[in-house]
This record gives sequence, structure tokens and C-alpha cells, in this order.
Amino acid sequence: MSEDIANSPNQSEENVQVEMEAFRVFLKSRGYRVTREREAIAESILLNHDHFDVDELFLNLRSKSPVSKASIYRAIPLMIESGLLAAVYLENGHMHYERVYGREHHSHLRCLTCHKIFEFNAPELTQVEKRISRMMGFKSEGHKFEIWGLCANCQAEKK
Ligand SMILES: [Zn+2]
Ligand SMILES: [Zn+2]
Repeated sequence: MSEDIANSPNQSEENVQVEMEAFRVFLKSRGYRVTREREAIAESILLNHDHFDVDELFLNLRSKSPVSKASIYRAIPLMIESGLLAAVYLENGHMHYERVYGREHHSHLRCLTCHKIFEFNAPELTQVEKRISRMMGFKSEGHKFEIWGLCANCQAEKK
């Protein structure tokens, strides 16, 4: 679960309220209803999660404000469309998501043993994105770069 994720920038209550308001404004502007359920899902994501999948979110919500997985699956694309959330990587066939609003672009290291996610930022990756795009006559809007393997802790335990 997400409490053991390294480098988690914890959200302040104030930030969460700003993002919740942005989400409500987005929903209204597209003619979607602001429901208690959508708010509960969004709030839980914004408060508790950095990198998560639907199962984790479902378990986390269950104790406080139970919602169905179907509702979560419907709410997530809305949060992505609103610019609060992005789909970031697949693990065992499950898409994982993270908060992106107001955050800098970064890449991930993913440990295959303990499933921790480490974030890093390497500006040279943006240069590669630009160079390749120029070469291919492509108008790029972003890139994803992921490293997977064993984190330092898990390597130590294998010895
Ligand atoms: Zn590990
Ligand atoms: Zn991340």
C-alpha cells in the first residue's frame, strides 16, 4: 500500500481543497454531476495516494465511504480528463495512476520485488524526446520512461 512508497510528497489539506474545487468546476463545465460518491473517490485519491491501482483505492475507501469498483472505474477517466490524474504504469495487468496537478514531470523506477516506486527527474530525457521528435517530424506532448528491477533494499535481502 502507499504508506511505504518512497518520496511521497504529502498533500496538505489546503492543496487537496484547491484540487477538489478544480475537479468540481471541471465536472460542472462538462455537464457532469458533482455527486457525493465522485467527491469521496477524488478526495481519497488526492489525500492518500501517490501511485495506486483501483484495488488499493477500493480497499482504502471501503472503511470510510464504501463505493463500488464500477464507480471508481467511471470516476478515474473524469479525473484524468480534468488534469488531476494520469495513468502512469502497468503492473501485473493493473493500470496504476498518480496525482499530477501542479507536479513536475518525472520518471519512475519500479521494484519488481517490493513494488515500491521511486521517482526521479532527468532533464536529458526531455532532450531525447525533443531530438527524436524533430528527427521524425513529430509534435511531441510528453514521454514516459520507466526502469524496473530490484531496489537497493531488495538486492541486499537477496544476498
Ligand atoms: Zn524493492
Ligand atoms: Zn510518480
